[in-house]
Amino acid sequence: MSFEPVIGLEIHIQLKTRRKMFCDCKSPVALAKGDVWQAEPNTHVCPVCLGLPGALPVVNQKAIEQAIKVGLALGCEINKETYFERKNYFYPDLSKGYQISQYRAPLCVGGQLDNVGITRVHLEEDTAKSLHREDTLLDFNKSGIPLLEIVSEPDIHSVKDARIYSKAIQELVRRLGVSDADMEKGQMRLEANISLRPTQRVAELPPYRVEIKNINSFRFLEGALKYEIERQTKALEKGEKLEQETRGYNVKRRVTFVQRTKEEAHDYRYFPEPDIPPLEIADETISRIKTSLPKLKDGLIDQLIEDYRILRKDAEVFVSDETKLEYFKDLVAEGLESRRAANLVINRPDVLLTRPDDLVRQLEREKAEEITDEDVLRKAVKAVIAANPQAVKDFRSGKEAALKFLIGQVMRQTRGKANPQVVEKLLKKAL
Ligand SMILES: [Zn+2]
Repeated sequence: MSFEPVIGLEIHIQLKTRRKMFCDCKSPVALAKGDVWQAEPNTHVCPVCLGLPGALPVVNQKAIEQAIKVGLALGCEINKETYFERKNYFYPDLSKGYQISQYRAPLCVGGQLDNVGITRVHLEEDTAKSLHREDTLLDFNKSGIPLLEIVSEPDIHSVKDARIYSKAIQELVRRLGVSDADMEKGQMRLEANISLRPTQRVAELPPYRVEIKNINSFRFLEGALKYEIERQTKALEKGEKLEQETRGYNVKRRVTFVQRTKEEAHDYRYFPEPDIPPLEIADETISRIKTSLPKLKDGLIDQLIEDYRILRKDAEVFVSDETKLEYFKDLVAEGLESRRAANLVINRPDVLLTRPDDLVRQLEREKAEEITDEDVLRKAVKAVIAANPQAVKDFRSGKEAALKFLIGQVMRQTRGKANPQVVEKLLKKAL
C-alpha cells in the first residue's frame, strides 16, 4: 500500500516594529542586529508585557499595518472588522495566564503562495523566554513582541515542497521589510501538521493529524517530516490506528516524540479580549498599504512582459537572475530590439562579458555588413552550384542535408556576410 503525505504549516514571524505589540517598550527585534538575546534580560519590560494585574494593552498600529501588508501580498481578504481574543493556558513564560491572540476574526483570511492555500494570517504577542537552569529563569524582553501567524491549508504533499513553501514565506516577509525572519534568532518558527492517506483515496483528508511543534530550522523541518512519514507509514502498514497528537523533534536523535495526546489537548477557552476594543480597518488604510507593496515575483513577470513584450519564459528567467535582467535592460536601452536582446542574454550568457553598448555596436556593424542584395548573392549561388555537382545531385534526389551543405558553401564564399535566408531562397530556386 502506498501513502501520500498531507502537510500543513503554521509559521510564526516576529515583526520588526520599533515597539512591542501592546505596550510602549522598545522591541529588542528592532535593535541593532535584531538580536533579542543581545539585550540584558528583563531590560525591555513594563507592567503590560510583564503581565502585571491591571495593566492595559494598547494596540501597535504599525504591527497591524505590517500584518495587512503580508496578508495583501498573499492575496488574502482583509477582515475589516476584527478583534483580539484571550487564549487561556498556563505556562511560566506567560505570566498573565493567557496570550492575546486572534481566533474567530483573524486579520487576514484566504490567499495563496506557490499553489499552497493560506487559511489565515493573524496577530498575537510573543511570550517570555524561560531558561531551565537549577531554577527556571524568566526573561521578559521577548514578551509582547508582535508575532504574525501564517497558517496554510494542508496542500503540501512532499518534504521538498514544505521546504520550498516555508522558504518562500521567509523571502516574502524579508522583501516586504516586515521581518528579517532569521531562524537562528527565533524570528521565524515553524510548526507542521502531517498525516498520511492512501494514494487511492487522495480526495479525503486523513482521520488524524500529528502536529510537530517548535521547529527552528529548515533542516529540522525536513528531518522531522521525513521521520514522521516513515513512522506513520510503518504504523499504517501494520494496520495501527493513528491518533491526533502533538510531538516534538529531538534534534540530536533525529526523531519525533510524543508531547501531548488527544486526551491531553488544551482547551484554550478563547474569549474576546475585554481591554481592547474591536478594530475597524478603513478601506483607505488597505488601499494605501496596497499601493506601498513592492513588486513581487508574479507582478514583476507581468510587468516585464507588458513593458518589453518578451516571452513569459524569458521574463521568468529574468526575475530570478538580477544580472541577466540588468544586462537585458541595458541592451534594450542601447537600442536592441527587446525579444532579440532577451534571446541573446538567455541563450548566449557569454555576451554578458561584453559591455552592453559595445555589444550593440558590434551587432549593428555585423548587420550593416550583411549582404542581402539578391544580384550579388545569385552570382555566389551559381558558382557554388557549378563547383558542387555531387551535392546538387544529392539534393535533387531528396537529401535535405545537401541543401545545408550548399548554404554553408555560399556563406564561406561571402566570408559569412550573406543573409542565410536569402541564400536558401535563391538556392532552392536555382535547383
Ligand atoms: Zn512593555
